[in-house]
This record gives sequence, structure tokens and C-alpha cells, in this order.
Amino acid sequence: MIHFVGAGPGAPDLITVRGKKLLEEADLIIYAGSLVNKELLTNAKESCIVKDSASMTLEEVLKAMEESEAKGFVTVRLHTGDPCLYGAIREQMDALDKKGIDYDYTPGVSSFSAAAAALRAEYTLPGISQSVIITRTAGRTPVPDKQTIVDYAQHGTTMVVFLSTGLVEKLAIQLVEGGYTAQTPAAVVYKASWPEERVYRCTVGTLAETVHAHHLKNTALILVGPFLSSAYERSKLYDPEFTHGFRKGNKE
Ligand code: SAH
Repeated sequence: MIHFVGAGPGAPDLITVRGKKLLEEADLIIYAGSLVNKELLTNAKESCIVKDSASMTLEEVLKAMEESEAKGFVTVRLHTGDPCLYGAIREQMDALDKKGIDYDYTPGVSSFSAAAAALRAEYTLPGISQSVIITRTAGRTPVPDKQTIVDYAQHGTTMVVFLSTGLVEKLAIQLVEGGYTAQTPAAVVYKASWPEERVYRCTVGTLAETVHAHHLKNTALILVGPFLSSAYERSKLYDPEFTHGFRKGNKE
């Protein structure tokens, strides 16, 4: 059995209980070394074989999984954050399906959640933003038609931009082209939940200089939108006047 496991954003205690248990049981762990916190590997038993996938191809990962499976080993494929986002997990699952190898999938805490915690922010504010756009800037991996930063910026809602610190000038230009102003609040969260975590608040207009001034390369998220400013409406859910399934409001 192959277990795909979300490692969480970095802090070793932000893996799920289930994920940690699987690490403890594993005979082989293949982890995404460029982003996964190596401290998580201390959960592995002494006999466990550990491979870093950073220098491996998909074919090599699959071969390692197949050999492990043939030996009757428990294999954990450890991906950063939640594997459902930019995890390149689908191609592995499809290949395992073809080979008839069984797998399961344990989600993780994504870095976009850890970034909100670092910012002490809520992405969805009444009257301000009720949607979150999770995206990236087109780089060596292109983005499909109608899925560009310009397209999404038109909504004016919360945007979480992955994998884009290296393309920040282009990102800032496209955000404005799409409709945010240079004054729209923005933030860069570096290594959310790691001991080295840093939060830089800025605006769309100062985003690029913020990224450069602090040498923010990989392991950073860019957040954009009015959720970062102070204005919002209070929630209906906790409004004394509002009636819902679990509470009667005080207004007739
Ligand atoms: N599946 C992962 C994302 C993998 S893509 C998740 O759910 O978080 C890798 C990108 O994620 C990085 O380039 C960076 O933009 C972002 N990232 C991953 N961990 C991060 C962290 N702890 N803090 C900030 N950004 C992070």
C-alpha cells in the first residue's frame, strides 16, 4: 500500500495525527525534500529507508514505490502542505492505477492556511471577500486561457498566489492590469509556520520591492486583497438579531 500524505506547511506538529501515524509505520518514505521539514522524518522507525524526491524523476519515484510494494513494505509519499495543490500527485496516482498498486491519500494543512494564521487574517470577510482565488503566475509552467492573473484580478477578492516570488514584477503589473489598484493591500508570508517565518505587509504597488528587499525566494506566498485592510461587516452568524437553525435572534 502506498500512502500519499500531506506533510503540512512546515511546523512538524502541523501534520495530521493520521499522517504522523503513517510516518511511524513506514518502511520507505519518499519526501519532497525541497519543502518538507526534515524534522518530520524523526517519526520514522530506525529501519525505514528515506528518499528525497527533489532529485528524482516521476519514473524513479514510481520504480521505488513498485520495488517497495513488491517487498510488502509500507510506503509513504510525503508531499508538502496539502498534496491537492501543486503536488504533482495525480500523475503518480494514475500511474499506480495502471500498475494495479493500491494507495490512499491523507490530506494536510496547506501553506495557504498557515499563511492566514501567520497574518492573523480571515480570507473571507462579509461585505469584502466571499471567495478565495488560489493561483500562480504563469512561468515555465503555463496557465490555461482565462486563468491568468489579469483574469482573476478582475474579481477584486482575496488572492493567494503560489510559486510566484520569482515573477513578482510581472505579477504586480498583471494585478493592476486586472483591476486592483497600487494601493490594494498585499502581503508576503515567508516559510509560514517554520521557525524562520516572516510576514511582510505591503501594497500591490510595493510588492516587488518588498520581495527583493528581503530576498524572498522559494517557500513564500503572496496574498492580495482588501481582506488585509481593516474594513468589513460583522458576521450574520453571530449577530444577536439573526435567527438560524441553532439560535433564535432577538429581532421579530
Ligand atoms: N502543496 C503545497 C504547495 C506546493 S507548491 C501546499 O499546500 O502548501 C510550493 C509553493 O508553496 C512554494 O513555492 C510556496 O509558494 C508555497 N509554500 C509551501 N510551503 C510554504 C510555507 N510554509 N510558507 C509559504 N509558502 C509556502
